[in-house]
Amino acid sequence: MSQCIFCKIARGESPADVLYRDEQLLVLKDINPQAPVHLLVIPVEHYPNLQQASANSALVSALIKKCTQLGSELGSQGYRIVVNTGPDGGQTVDHLHIHVLAGRPLQWPPG
Ligand code: AMP
Ligand code: ZN
Repeated sequence: MSQCIFCKIARGESPADVLYRDEQLLVLKDINPQAPVHLLVIPVEHYPNLQQASANSALVSALIKKCTQLGSELGSQGYRIVVNTGPDGGQTVDHLHIHVLAGRPLQWPPG
């Protein structure tokens, strides 16, 4: 996906604060953080959303494993992982990404 911002970041064509990468996934800092810890875990390969990626169970498992690792390392009092999907889900970037939020008490329910 040539114009997808997260594909561009994965290819190194757009700047980002990338904390980790391997052949499957990247971890980057969210550009507009909503908590003291706000990271995005994204696959290198373009999937528009979690629905489209769900058949690739090895990938989904790797993404979730990275999220729980980050959450347990960085969220001493707990953490939240979020996957906004589609317009009603609040998804604004159509490349699968999992938010990892921590560092403050998070409210529920979301707006
Ligand atoms: P969502 O609303 O779930 O699709 O989340 C998209 C997230 O991507 C938002 O939290 C944005 O702040 C974040 N974002 C958008 N562009 C960038 C970027 N270039 N680098 C890092 N985070 C970004
Ligand atoms: Zn993409």
